[in-house]
Amino acid sequence: MIRYMKKLSAEIIGVLGYRGIMILLALLLFFLLFAWIKSRLRYRKYKRGIDKKEAEQRATRERRYVTSKMKEHILERDNYTCQICGISRDFLNSYAEGLGDYLLLEVDHIVPVKQGGSGDDEDNLQVLCWRCNRKKSGTKTNEDVAEQIDYGIHLFFDE
Ligand SMILES: [Zn+2]
Repeated sequence: MIRYMKKLSAEIIGVLGYRGIMILLALLLFFLLFAWIKSRLRYRKYKRGIDKKEAEQRATRERRYVTSKMKEHILERDNYTCQICGISRDFLNSYAEGLGDYLLLEVDHIVPVKQGGSGDDEDNLQVLCWRCNRKKSGTKTNEDVAEQIDYGIHLFFDE
């Protein structure tokens, strides 16, 4: 085996010469170095992409978050009244005292944060009942939802 290897290397040297082998080794080394640098660069790019995405997601989460204090402020400002269908705590209480407590009201971003709306500016916040809020999800406006809904009760402001 060793003899065979010696013979083979002697033949290679014979064909390429020492200089040829050195060039070949240098090329191989260069190629390995190149591949290594390339993979490092690709990894860094990948890592940076992930970091950027995480930062964006975190920013979105924070912008979407409405503090409980702000939520209370918006509920009071809108008088515990859905800004689309007009159902309110007072309206339900007028039927039976305490009935209004069963009305599930939510604070909605008028222009969704995803579409560039402000997350914590009170001008972009409104009170909606849960039914209207589910219908508004996505890109719809209050007017779009108002056209769609018919809850069987008519509580619109302009009545
Ligand atoms: Zn409603």
